[in-house]
Amino acid sequence: MTSKHFRKNIHLTFPPDVSGNPVVCNLTRLYDLSFNILKAQITPRKEGYMTLELIGSEENYRKGVEYLADNGIRVAPVAQRISRDEESCMHCGMCTAICPNSSLCMDREMRVVLFDKERCTACGMCVRICPVNAMSVETENGPW
Ligand code: SF4
Ligand code: SF4
Repeated sequence: MTSKHFRKNIHLTFPPDVSGNPVVCNLTRLYDLSFNILKAQITPRKEGYMTLELIGSEENYRKGVEYLADNGIRVAPVAQRISRDEESCMHCGMCTAICPNSSLCMDREMRVVLFDKERCTACGMCVRICPVNAMSVETENGPW
């Protein structure tokens, strides 16, 4: 069975003769994958680097990655983890509503949001919702 909520971050390297955007946009048209561009850069030698979050079914993710590779793009998984800036977090609790596996949860007695890193799957949803950008993604094998 395929999940419709499969998410994965990948790192793409485009050779100079491959234009990045149309190929990436085709992932939506051909494979029904949504994407978020997390980082993008073109070197002076016109080689492109992009870190991309892909969302869709696991089967379509696999097909999409094959499509990218068939178009001359090098694809590597991005190992990542989420960290919280303890100084910035104001314990508003917004992220606890969106965290899919209760890695972030409110201690009602202490009125603080607890972050259990062991449970975190690095889906990145809290990063997008946090109003003070306290949650951030740390990639471990990107080139930057
Ligand atoms: S949304 Fe941000 S500020 Fe609010 S509790 Fe979560 S990490 Fe802290
Ligand atoms: S990255 Fe996802 S699983 Fe981890 S704390 Fe944030 S919302 Fe929860």
